[in-house]
Formats: sequence, C-alpha cells, structure tokens
Amino acid sequence: MIAAQLLAYYFTELKDDQVKKIDKYLYSMRFSDETLHDIKCRFRRELENGLGRDTNTTATVKMLPTFVRSIPDGSEKGDFLALDLGGSNFRILRVKVTQDKKQPVQMESLVYETPEDIIHGSGTQLFDHVAECLGDFMEKQKIKDKKLPVGFTFSFPCAQTKLDEAVLVTWTKKFKVSGVEGMDVVKLLNKAIKKRGDYEADIMAVVNDTTGTMMTCGFDDQRCEVGIIIGTGTNACYMEELRHIDMVEGDEGRMCINTEWGCNLSLKHYINTCLTKCKEILTRLGVEPSQEDCVAVQHVCTIVSFRSANLIAATLGGILTRLKDNKGVARLRTTVGIDGSMYKMHPQYARRLHKTVRRLVPDSDVRFLLSESGSAKGAAMVTAVAYRLADQTRQIAQTLAEFRLSKAQLLEVKKRMRTEIENGLGKKTHDSATVKMLPTYVRSTPDGTENGDFLALDLGGTNFRVLLVKIRSGKRRTVEMHNKIYAIPIEVMQGTGEELFDHIVYCISDFLDYMGMKSARLPLGFTFSFPCHQKSLDAGILVNWTKGFKCTDCEGEDVVELLREGIKRKEEFDLDVVAVVNDTVGTMMTCAYEEPTCEVGLIAGTGSNACYMEEMRNIETVEGNEGRMCVNMEWGAFGDNGCLDDIRTQYDRAVDENSLNEGKQRYEKMCSGMYLGEIVRNILIDLTKRGFLFRGKISETLKTRGIFETKFLSQIESDRLALLQVRAILQQLGLDSTCDDSIIVKEVCSTVSRRAAQICGAGMAGVVDKIRENRALDHLDVTVGVDGTLYKLHPHFSRIFHQTVKELAPKCNVNFLLSEDGSGKGAALITAVGCRQREQEALQA
Ligand code: ADP
Ligand code: MG
Repeated sequence: MIAAQLLAYYFTELKDDQVKKIDKYLYSMRFSDETLHDIKCRFRRELENGLGRDTNTTATVKMLPTFVRSIPDGSEKGDFLALDLGGSNFRILRVKVTQDKKQPVQMESLVYETPEDIIHGSGTQLFDHVAECLGDFMEKQKIKDKKLPVGFTFSFPCAQTKLDEAVLVTWTKKFKVSGVEGMDVVKLLNKAIKKRGDYEADIMAVVNDTTGTMMTCGFDDQRCEVGIIIGTGTNACYMEELRHIDMVEGDEGRMCINTEWGCNLSLKHYINTCLTKCKEILTRLGVEPSQEDCVAVQHVCTIVSFRSANLIAATLGGILTRLKDNKGVARLRTTVGIDGSMYKMHPQYARRLHKTVRRLVPDSDVRFLLSESGSAKGAAMVTAVAYRLADQTRQIAQTLAEFRLSKAQLLEVKKRMRTEIENGLGKKTHDSATVKMLPTYVRSTPDGTENGDFLALDLGGTNFRVLLVKIRSGKRRTVEMHNKIYAIPIEVMQGTGEELFDHIVYCISDFLDYMGMKSARLPLGFTFSFPCHQKSLDAGILVNWTKGFKCTDCEGEDVVELLREGIKRKEEFDLDVVAVVNDTVGTMMTCAYEEPTCEVGLIAGTGSNACYMEEMRNIETVEGNEGRMCVNMEWGAFGDNGCLDDIRTQYDRAVDENSLNEGKQRYEKMCSGMYLGEIVRNILIDLTKRGFLFRGKISETLKTRGIFETKFLSQIESDRLALLQVRAILQQLGLDSTCDDSIIVKEVCSTVSRRAAQICGAGMAGVVDKIRENRALDHLDVTVGVDGTLYKLHPHFSRIFHQTVKELAPKCNVNFLLSEDGSGKGAALITAVGCRQREQEALQA
C-alpha cells in the first residue's frame, strides 16, 4: 500500500489502474518466509563476523561496542542533562530521575535549530553551537552554577573505548561537518565548553540513539535488551555477552553492541533486486523512467524494502535467535524497545513487524515497547546508570576491602599465632591459652615396620566412617582399606552423649557384620576430631565440642571410656581401643608413611586445624625433654581471646552470633568450609539491603541459614564457568540474579575464600618457622600433609594458601602432600605404633 502510494506520488501521470497493478506487483514481490529465514540466518552470521577479531574488518555490520554494560534496574536517581544530536532536531533535556513510583522520570526539553551552514560547516562551528545551546538551556533552567552529569546522544557510527569517549567513524544522514571524523566528540565538546568558561558540564556518556531507546525502555521494563530505530535511518543494538566481543577486554557480563545494521550488505542485495524489479514493472507499464525518475524509484525502493517490516523482522530475528542461544534457554522472553517515525506512523507496519518476528522466532515471547523520546532520555538513563554503578562499585569495593588483608596484616596474624603457640605450650599460660597445643602422645612418625589388621573410626566431620585397614610391612609395603560411611543424623549430633555413642556402636556392629568379622577382637584407632586433653595415647578428655556437634554429657569426659561403655551396653562384640587420634595427626602420619619429611598435618575441611612435631622440651605440659611429640594445635580457637578482632568484620561477627558455639573458634570461622558460605550469605544479605544486589529484594532463600554451602563457592569461582552458569547456580539456590548480580556474587565469594586461604597460610607460616627455629636452622625443608575437601576441591584455595606460606615464611621450603584418606589410614598407623609401644612396655616390665 505505502509503496504504491509513494510511486503514485512520484509518477503523477500514473493512472489508478496502474497504481493497482504496481501494488499487485509489489505484493507479489514480498518476501517468502523461506527468504526471510534465509536473511535471518545470514544476518546472524554477519553479526557473528562483526564480533570476531579476525572477521570484524570485513564484516558488513560494524558491531560497535558501546561500553554500556548495564540496563537500568529502577534504582537510578539524580538530576541529569541530555543532548540529542543526529535526529531531525537538536534537543537538550533535563531529566530528573526519582524513586517516586507515580512519576519516576521528569523531563523538560528545548529544541534548537541547527542551521544548514553548521551542518555543512566546520567541527569548531558545530561544537561551539552545541555548547552555546547547552549554556542557553542551563541559563533558562537556572542551573548554570551546577556541574550536572551529561549524557550525549550522538547518533552516528562511533568507535568507543569507554563510555565517555566516542571517535566519529563517518558522518551519515544529512551531516557533513569537516574535521570531526576520526576525532573524539567528547573532547571536542569539552573544548568548546571550556572555551566559553561560563558553565561546567560532566559528560559521562556518549550513546547512540538505538542504545538510548533500549535504555529508556529498559527503565520501564527490565527485560528490554534490544533497541531499534526505524526512522530517518534504521539501526539496532542489543546486549551481547562480553566474552563474545573480541574487541573488548574482559569476559564477564554483557555489553550493548551497536550493530549499525543500516550498512548491511544482505539488505543492499535485496534493495538492488527490488530496484531492478521496480524498473521492470514501470517499463512494462509503459513508463520510460528518466534518470531523475530512477533516483525517485531508488528512493521509493529504499522505503519499500530497506524499511520494510519484513526485512527488519528478519534481521531482528537474527538478533533474537542470537540472544536466545547466548542465554541457552528453550524459550526467549525479551523486550524490544523501538523508536522512529516510520514505526510510529504506520500501525500496519508495527503489526506486520510483530507478526513476522513471532513467525520467524517461534520459541519466543517478544514484547515490543514504544519508546517515548527514547533517544534523548536514553542518554540520561545511561548517565544515570553509569552514575549509580560508579557509586555502587565504590561502595561494594569498600565493603570487600575489609577482607583484603595486606602483607603487613598477614605477618601480624603469623606473629600472633606464634604468640598463642607459646602460650599453649607453656606450663603457666596453658590453662588460659586459646590455642591449646594438645599433646597427642604420638612420638614418632611411621618407620615402615607397621604391620597388622586394624579397625578405625572417623568421627568429626560430615560423615562417620568405620574402616578395616590391613597394613603390611616389608619390601612391598601395602595398605588395604575397606570402609563404610554412616550418616549421623542432626538430632544425634545435638542429642545426648549416650545416644551418640550408641549410634556409633551400632554402626561398628553393622560394619563387622558386613565384613563377617564380629568375633575378631581387633585393635582400634578412634579418629575423633575435636579438642581432647590426652594423658596417654588411649585416653582423650573432650575439651569442648566444635563444628556441628553439641552432645550433652561428653565435655570433660574421656571419649575412649564413653566408647567402651557403649560397646559394653551393646554386649555384642569386644574391641581393643588402642588410640584416640585427631584427624590432623592421622593426616600427618599417612603422609609421613610415604614421605619421611612430613612433620606437619593440616585439615582444611569442615573445620580448620593443624598439628606438628614439637620438641618435648618445649611442651611444658608433658614430662620429659627428650625427643619430639606431635601436638594437636587446635588452632581453630585462635582469636578467641580477641586477638584477631581487628581483622574480623561485621559479617564474621554475624556468622559467629548465629553459630552453635558463639565466641569460640573465631579463626576457624574465618577460614573453614563450614563457615565460608555463611560469611558470603551474610555479605549478600547486606549488599541486597543496601540495594546493590537482587534488585534490593531479600528472598526467603537468602534468609535461610546454611543455604550457601561452601561447595557453591567452589562452583561459582571456577574459572571454567561462564557467568551464565553462575546465574544457573544462583537460580538453583532460588536466587533470581541478573548478570551484574552474578559478577558481584562471584567477587564476594572469591574475596571471602582468598582471605580464608591467606589467614590459613599465615598460621601455617607461623608453624613452619617455629619448627625451623626449634632446630636452629637458617633454612628448613619440610612437608605438610593436607586433607580436607575445601583444600582439595576449591579452585583457588590451595594455590593462594601455598603462595601465602611461601611469602610469609621465606626461609622455609614447604612441600605439600595431599593425604589419601588420612583419618582412616592415619588412625590405623597410629594404632600400629601404639601396639608396638605396648609390646615394648610389656617386655620391659
Ligand atoms: P570433614 O572436614 O568434615 O572431615 P571434608 O574434608 O570432606 O570432611 O570437608 C567437608 C566440608 O568441605 C564440608 O563441610 C564443606 O564445608 C566443604 N566442601 C564440600 N564440598 C566442597 C567443595 N566442592 N569445595 C569446597 N568445599 C567443599
Ligand atoms: Mg575429615
């Protein structure tokens, strides 16, 4: 219809029936769905070429990065100015964005003439003119004394390297101003404003009208991630994944890409076809087109085809399928912001566009949102978002800065650990010490002569295990293990002591049945990973429960005795409990069995703890000065006297207050698996409250204690994970996040785990340096046996931990050995050593 009327307008001599014929021909010329599908796919490929580093230069769509990374989230506010140059008018706006629900955006604007001689004049003239108009506008608004943030809509293809810089690639439309191509228009405008000297302006963002349109619509509908203009020219932008944009550094989050699809070749191809056909029609109609007519025909054809709803629908379809694939969703739900006279003036046009898009991208729910004064208001929105983000980034950085410890602070942690170690070892200071330095009565590491079959229990973490360990000495030393895992229900973990030990004995009984060895009276090693006072290898008085345990009637009791009583109550089997073992010691022993230089054990799992071989002369709580004994440090309690309070944050305190053992295990609560997720959750709650995350809404999920398990930190921080997958994890947790949210969450996680690894490293540096000084060495080679899922599975913990130890204890060459099933094997080795000791004692007697 439109086409026929336009033709009639240009060829006034055409008769009515001729117009009808042309119309019919044009109708027959409409694109089939197959053709449109083809255009869609071709455009999609061009789009991808435009994004690639090697293909960009030859691509027909320029795909210009806009450095607009975020769409409005509705929390923007402030007073902004916007300049709009490049449309039919030059406009200046004042945009006030408030949190007022009814009328969040208030605008006042003035249109200024752009005289012909300026459009074809020099750059200096143009920007002097713009600066003069801005001055006039500010004068009228009575804001000439303020320095307001300004957004600049400059609707010409520009190369940007940041938001507030835009180098004009080439003039388009009716503009032809000399000396501007290849120049940064922000610099030119700033220069013009400075030259005047009667006001100041802070130009924060240059945007294209498509971006402006997307941002304006994005303020009302946060799903909006595409902007298109169908007016004097046509163009589109959309939010692309940063990792796909080769021209821009970074691979997290998204950025708006200005496609500049107006210069696309596939469009030109169809225009040319159209042109030829038009000529054909006219010739057949007996109209001999003159040169002038040809220009007119071309104009018409451009309108007919270039702006044809079908073509736009096809190219838009290309963008939408790309968005859909980027998101990896089965169904795309999105909003397209549109501006431009062509779209607004012809209702059929809009309807046809919508219908065709829905046909071409079937698995989608696309909303089309008409933008009100989009191009100019959008610049203000971009500025508002930039303003909000800058402020937000600063505040988040400030929050996380507390977790970023300097080397001096870490050295201080190391030094304090050393002080606490001395306190724990000293006779007079031991009772009041927080780091208890508990003697284990393990006096040597294995020598390879250990032999026999042993039972082992492993209690103190997530699981309870019963094991049968067969150790064979000789030339080919072997260790064979059988084990069964049993759950300890939370009501048992926090019930009575009798219930706990009945449950343990029940599990042993089940295991013996399972192995068919009820009658064998095997020696048993009991890995019990809580602080115990030991007076011998086979007795341990529980100091206090830690981690998730809180059973009554156990603290102050000998846990070996409690186990023996449980076995007696059951009256089913008998066992010879030889040793009570801390998991750190088990880990050290297991590694020492393979690597004799291993004299330190570390656990970084549910809890955090370490042990090492200390000189007997330094252990004032045990008689004797000869040789060494392994000391279970119980370093998790480091800081319980307040000595770490200067590095603890409000989030650490919140985690502590919500724990089973308030005020206890402060160091452990900063660096072990049971608590890292909780620290993260508390930070996320605070950031959400302050409006920086999850659109300021604290979900029920986020309120749920323990929901953020440490394994999620590992997943989120994995280098191989794309942001989309981070979002999927958060989604799984019931946290509905945006891209920006997931970037922040990831940063929170890595900040918390980094600090954990660092302070753990600082503690370890204190330990290895103590061993070195014990032996009066300038240089120490030592191996640390390590166990624990945090250490094993977190993508960065171990690396940062090693690095820290190296940096803080430069005189020690520390080797780390992962323990294979330390608590089981280690308990058996200690039991074997215990049996040997017993035999020797019996011989001596
Ligand atoms: P435990 O210390 O309880 O004997 P583990 O060494 O297996 O046992 O540690 C279990 C703890 O490790 C869990 O409580 C949890 O905090 C943490 N964890 C579990 N999975 C992961 C993971 N993928 N990455 C980091 N930490 C994890
Ligand atoms: Mg363990």
